[in-house]
Amino acid sequence: MESPAAPDTLAIAANLASVRARMAAACARAGRQESSVRLLPVTKTVSAARLRAAVAAGLTRFGENKVQEAKGKAAALADLPVEWSLIGHLQTNKAGDVLKFAAEFQALDSLRLAEALERRLHGAGRALDVLLQVNTSGEPSKFGLPPDEVLPFARAVAAFGGLRVRGLMTLAEFTPDQDRVRACFRRLRQVQTRLRDTALPAHMNWDELSMGMSGDFETAIEEGATTVRVGQAIFGARPLPDSHYWPERPTA
Ligand SMILES: *Cc1c(COP(=O)(O)O)cnc(C)c1O
Repeated sequence: MESPAAPDTLAIAANLASVRARMAAACARAGRQESSVRLLPVTKTVSAARLRAAVAAGLTRFGENKVQEAKGKAAALADLPVEWSLIGHLQTNKAGDVLKFAAEFQALDSLRLAEALERRLHGAGRALDVLLQVNTSGEPSKFGLPPDEVLPFARAVAAFGGLRVRGLMTLAEFTPDQDRVRACFRRLRQVQTRLRDTALPAHMNWDELSMGMSGDFETAIEEGATTVRVGQAIFGARPLPDSHYWPERPTA
């Protein structure tokens, strides 16, 4: 007889079903195919034991915003068929760490980091999927390239053969005002349009728009998200405010 699923697995599966239903409804409203939006479960602060339950609930890819936490969990789950996306700021001196466990890096926003990654990738003879992070809210505390700097940045990294550019990522303004949130998502799509209208090397692909989290993923889907990064709606509320997990960019 099959053993009954653990309570954690059942709870995660129920939350997942509800997130997927809301994603499907948002796709229907926007006239989009459900298969055009990928759900990236975000697992910061979620223990490796609960991640095992999440894998039992059918998840195979996780996103983490801190490289140290991600590395530890990747090691703890090395026996499972899981892929990792790094979705947060990375210090240049940690570039080598990403290559050890991540299949994708969504927060590229500096040339120094791009150069460090390229050097390591070249040495290892491999490539890494990357998204360029754009600061669409204009908040100085947020990481990401200002919208106007994305095109020159894209030109600068075009020659880096190890970086497989797949699109753009953003965090919307933290506000309950969905109009302001929506404006951030629209800005990301405008940047994408500008990149597509510009003669950039054909190996650079701009299809991915990674935007939307637990509080705003439906709005993001309406505005064209191809990846939504959802944590709390799947794993439950985090005990501390986001500022605790989200080291802000020094503005001094
Ligand atoms: C934590 C995090 C998310 C998910 O936020 P939730 O509120 O848990 O859905 C998405 N993107 C990034 C970069 C994050 O750090």
